[in-house]
Amino acid sequence: MPNGMFIDIKISNKLKKDTELSKQVVESCPVDIFALENEEIGINMEYIDECTLCNLCINVTSKEDIQIIKIYENN
Ligand code: SF4
Repeated sequence: MPNGMFIDIKISNKLKKDTELSKQVVESCPVDIFALENEEIGINMEYIDECTLCNLCINVTSKEDIQIIKIYENN
């Protein structure tokens, strides 16, 4: 990720209810940003800065199910 950039990731309620698709998302991410807890997908916040914006998670779902929001630091 470029310097000075942070991201936030939003997961849709539809994806949270779809355990099978959630498992595919967890497996798709090369830097383990997603995790399943009690069958529901969540974000490993400690890894979120490792996101490479590779879009592999979106490729197994859709832009509606996973939103990667780029936040630029003003400095
Ligand atoms: S864009 Fe790539 S690195 Fe970022 S969360 Fe999705 S799969 Fe993981």
